[in-house]
Amino acid sequence: GTAIALTNCAKTFADGTRALMPFDLSITAGETLVLLGPSGCGKTTILRMIAGLEFPDAGGAIHFGEDDVTRHSIEQRRVGMVFQSYALFPNMTVAENVAYGLKVQKVGKAERDQRVREMLEMMHIDMLADRRVDQLSGGQRQRVALARAIAPRPRVLLLDEPLTALDAKLRVRLRTEINALLRKLGITAIYVTHDQEEAMALGDRIVVMQKGEIAQIGTPQEIYRAPKTPFVADFVGASNCLKVDIENGRALLGRVDVDVSRAWNANPATDGLSEIYFRADGLMLCAPHDAHFTATVEAVSYLGEKLRVTVAGIGNDAVIVDTDPDSVVRLGETVHCRLVPEKLTMFAAN
Ligand code: ADP
Ligand code: MG
Repeated sequence: GTAIALTNCAKTFADGTRALMPFDLSITAGETLVLLGPSGCGKTTILRMIAGLEFPDAGGAIHFGEDDVTRHSIEQRRVGMVFQSYALFPNMTVAENVAYGLKVQKVGKAERDQRVREMLEMMHIDMLADRRVDQLSGGQRQRVALARAIAPRPRVLLLDEPLTALDAKLRVRLRTEINALLRKLGITAIYVTHDQEEAMALGDRIVVMQKGEIAQIGTPQEIYRAPKTPFVADFVGASNCLKVDIENGRALLGRVDVDVSRAWNANPATDGLSEIYFRADGLMLCAPHDAHFTATVEAVSYLGEKLRVTVAGIGNDAVIVDTDPDSVVRLGETVHCRLVPEKLTMFAAN
């Protein structure tokens, strides 16, 4: 069922900043919902409204299951929170930090010790139980923060860019562990990030936000394969954009035309000026007789599992194409390219 529902929620701050336009959003029990968007788009404000740290403008309502919690304080809502900065109690041990929420809930000592031990084991920090948190690394602190937030069995776990401060390798590792943990425990979670890869990896559904509004809600596959707006396409990694003229379902590109009636998204290729968005896999290097056009190599980066080639001479902007890492591609060389119609997303150009 629905764990959390926000209805007609908008947020205007005291200084007049319109952080969020009115929106509806519901989160299913046990689901991990990711809020994804650039800095300043209102992600943290939504999280703080769910926590009870901010209240929606008049007319908005927040329900936890059947309960109207719109005016409830954070203490009444029983939410768990994890932030980018650890916000642990520095003068307490790891175990004391994790036990804190259970003490507040007046859980008896025996059960408390048991649950703290379970949480520490689950987060692989049981050997750190008696350490003070100021003696821990960033990754260890974030494990403690997660254990502390989950131990009191919150109705919803709210995570605001919890991995942003960690180095890349640790970020991927912890994200995998968090993913497994949320599913194992069936926790309802809302996870805020500006990192599209993290959003894809963690979300059952992703809410893409732009300037205080929801641009699209969908599964990672839906967001990736069928972005509804150019903003979503661009933000979730379609780095290439070509402006083309469409006539009878075919894109006219210089001397050649390409059948784009099979483009990925639902927007039919309507005649007129259009924008084609695609990722590095929407274009291929190919033999001359298969080519839609030729282009000049501007940059080459070896990425291990692939060779990433930037080519110019197709439309106005340079585009990126990935190819076999063992192929030899030289700067300034002329290459032959073809578009992969199934991997294109089309929008009418304004
Ligand atoms: P995000 O988390 O996506 O980066 P925020 O929710 O923090 O975005 O902020 C959304 C907008 O609201 C931003 O323009 C921000 O400057 C503004 N904002 C956030 N908190 C306040 C506040 N307390 N007073 C005024 N403006 C605020
Ligand atoms: Mg934020």
